[in-house]
Amino acid sequence: MPRFILTVLAFLFCGWVNSAQAERNLVRPPGTTRYASMVQQLTALVEYDKVHASQMTLTSLGQSVKGRGLWMATVGHGPKSIFYLCRQHGHEPASTEGALAFLNTLVKADADTPTAHLLENVTVYVVPMANPDGSEAFRRHNARNVDLNRDWLRRTQPETRALYSALQRLRPTVVTDQHELYPDDARPDFTETAGPGSGASPEIIAACGDTQAVVQGAMQAEGYSAVSHLVTDTHPARLAHRYVSIVAGVPAVLFETNRLPGRSVATRAEAHLQFMLIVFRDMAGEREQLVAEADIWRAAHSSMLASRHKEFQRPPGPPPAAAQEKGAD
Ligand SMILES: [Zn+2]
Repeated sequence: MPRFILTVLAFLFCGWVNSAQAERNLVRPPGTTRYASMVQQLTALVEYDKVHASQMTLTSLGQSVKGRGLWMATVGHGPKSIFYLCRQHGHEPASTEGALAFLNTLVKADADTPTAHLLENVTVYVVPMANPDGSEAFRRHNARNVDLNRDWLRRTQPETRALYSALQRLRPTVVTDQHELYPDDARPDFTETAGPGSGASPEIIAACGDTQAVVQGAMQAEGYSAVSHLVTDTHPARLAHRYVSIVAGVPAVLFETNRLPGRSVATRAEAHLQFMLIVFRDMAGEREQLVAEADIWRAAHSSMLASRHKEFQRPPGPPPAAAQEKGAD
């Protein structure tokens, strides 16, 4: 094929990719947490902790393009650790709200409660707003118009560089990357993690699959739809969950919430909170309990469905004679 045709095709393809990733204007839902308020809430939790001694600390991992701090909260002091990465896309507010609720739950847990005990087993790192400039402008990209969750392979932006250097330093047991779908995307909430064919090592694939299975069962038991997807292709690892598991060698799970019109930020934030609590309990040693809870839910659910199925299968006409004799109704 002549070279100029290839050039034209490459140009058209790049144009298509760029337009597919172009900014789409979404309106900030009223009442969602702005950057300054987030910093205020995090600082208040550190102050609360000084009185209650559960030791939350606040670290700036670096600065955004416009000089806003990339804040990370640390709670707990166990050998295992979780790095919760929230809101790489500024117009996806639910993970920030979920992260603040999660930190509140951990920090304000009374001594001698299960949560306080679990904090002995696991260290929790939470970045509630990984793209503060995009969040303030309520847009997907950062202030240089770069999609941070397509920048992990090259790390051209101060945000992705700071986040990756924190991951290298901390080497967490597992990483979450939390997002929201567009309002016209009807897919239900889902997780995605490295599967066979992704290029991740067998150990990482096994760890990713185990965490995902626990999360799916536990989310279902909490009443969420909880669908699981696997990365099975070898596309360049530009997205955080792909890069972290496939290239950096740390298990990572993507979580996406559906936001069809009518599902409020509070409801979506609740889904992020549940997801974060389940990963926390799993890493802190409650995997067996989570699986048992999910089994009980599944058993109850399947017997209910089976009895409804029987009801539908019953032939038309009067009930059997034995039932008539009882006359229960
Ligand atoms: Zn996103």
